[in-house]
Amino acid sequence: MIASDENGKKPLLVHRAAWELKSGKKIDDLPPANDGTRWEIHHECGNKLCLEHLLLCSRREHNAIHTFERRWNKALSKIAPYGYISASFVEAA
Ligand SMILES: [Zn+2]
Ligand SMILES: [Zn+2]
Repeated sequence: MIASDENGKKPLLVHRAAWELKSGKKIDDLPPANDGTRWEIHHECGNKLCLEHLLLCSRREHNAIHTFERRWNKALSKIAPYGYISASFVEAA
């Protein structure tokens, strides 16, 4: 089963594993995030089968990214109904 990034609700086990493999680090071994929430992996391009474009962020940052993406896409759907721009320029702290 492929873990889903839908709405940021489910943990991204596949993406976590891919990030750990790529970085050579264990997410559970990282020092705690500055805001005290746990580390999560955000996948920026939205293609569930893709294991690139992985961004390490705290849970709080991750929620903020998804809230931003939802608002952004909602606003965008009014001006560009057939387009989609990912929020990949959102930088994690
Ligand atoms: Zn995400
Ligand atoms: Zn991707």
